[in-house]
Amino acid sequence: MLLDDEDITAQREHSFFGDVINYFDSAAKFTKYPEGLLDQIKFCNSVYRMKFPVRMGNKIETVVAYRVEHSQHKLPAKGGIRYSTAVTQDEVKALAALMTFKCAVVDVPFGGAKGGVKIDPKKCTELELEHITRRYTAELVKKNFIGPGVDVPAPDYGTGPREMAWIADTYAAFNPGIDAAGCVTGKPVSQGGIRGRTEATGRGVFYGIREAVGVAEDMKKLKLKTGLSGKRVVIQGFGNVGFHSAKFLLEGGAVIVAIGEYEGAVYDPRGIDVEGVLKHRKETGSILNYKKAKNIKRTNDILEIDCDILVPAALENQVHSGNAAKIKAKIVAEAANGPTTPQAEKILEKKDVLILPDLYLNAGGVTVSYFEWLKNLSHVRFGRLGKRHEELINRTVVESIEKAVGKNLDAKAKSILMQGADEEDLVNSGLEETMIQAYHEIRETKSKDKKIPDLRTAAFVNAIDKIATSYLALGIFP
Ligand code: GLU
Repeated sequence: MLLDDEDITAQREHSFFGDVINYFDSAAKFTKYPEGLLDQIKFCNSVYRMKFPVRMGNKIETVVAYRVEHSQHKLPAKGGIRYSTAVTQDEVKALAALMTFKCAVVDVPFGGAKGGVKIDPKKCTELELEHITRRYTAELVKKNFIGPGVDVPAPDYGTGPREMAWIADTYAAFNPGIDAAGCVTGKPVSQGGIRGRTEATGRGVFYGIREAVGVAEDMKKLKLKTGLSGKRVVIQGFGNVGFHSAKFLLEGGAVIVAIGEYEGAVYDPRGIDVEGVLKHRKETGSILNYKKAKNIKRTNDILEIDCDILVPAALENQVHSGNAAKIKAKIVAEAANGPTTPQAEKILEKKDVLILPDLYLNAGGVTVSYFEWLKNLSHVRFGRLGKRHEELINRTVVESIEKAVGKNLDAKAKSILMQGADEEDLVNSGLEETMIQAYHEIRETKSKDKKIPDLRTAAFVNAIDKIATSYLALGIFP
């Protein structure tokens, strides 16, 4: 294949997309597909760069934005939209590529995409953010880069349900119709969102880590006890993903010893109350000075704290060749996209650190996005039809048992037994099943071929296999 300028740069110089290519190539060696097919799977299919004017205060500013569809082997293409001053075309391409492989790893039937708008959302008023979001959506509509069957954005760094509601509303204005809400996920529940989506990525991170630390054989190699209980965890990034990962890990028995945000970090080896830090940050505007925890001025210093599990939950490129040797964690759990560079990964692997790769570990968000999209297209809330029927059956079973044994069951157990599943129960159940299933699929691929060095390579191998199969089924490649 003749490469375009950007792909040549990605292969030559340091670039985030180059890192993803690197990971892909290392995994592709363990597959037997022809080079042309591997190129088709590896590179981005469509890259849309746009510029549009926005009124900011009393000035007009030109905003640069992107949408990249890395793959369309399954439709729609899917992936979040990032608002950050660090957005570049290279970054959006890398993130779009990761979405392709992520969806394949967890069997979400979508292609991969990503969007980025180069702005600092903290410096914009709400009205400016609304204008930018609506204009960006209109640009996507113009070029057919958004739609329930085409390309479906979602939240990412710097965006959330509010932005998704603006996107849905703008899209529907151009394309009125009963399926319009399916053009974007991560919406507020009142606008067609699904319960459990906000916490989904963090919950998925929790399920993934719980699965990994549950394998006795792997924990023995790390000289760790099996299970989450008492594991010391460091969380870098206290946005939606970091907060929810920390919350669920704490509930699961882990001890959160440090939390970092861009303003600094707090550290307490006895454990930090996650909800307390969130409240403190809302009240004071910073996580610093939280109760008895020690302040750490440079947030990235927490990456080097002595702990069992390090959870980078912020941005890419955090664990790099400059700090990898100093990392003391036995497990690096990639809640963010691309937090570990390939150079750092080599250093960590020499130290026998277990890396739970992003394309698996943070796939909970897109998994629940898939459920939201299904809800939007089916126009019915999960659980609406079956809940009462299930409850009737459960009640009959419980009452018959009570009658037969001549004793009433414990009140708490009885209320759990008699409950029918509602939307949130079903979403969490689907997410848990997805994360468990995918973990063991990846682990099995690694165990089957002793030459596969790590879980990331195994996850890429699985993803490549699944995507290649869909091309081969079409007879496009011999
Ligand atoms: N931005 C999230 C991710 O990187 C979610 C994407 C989605 O739900 O489409 O996985």
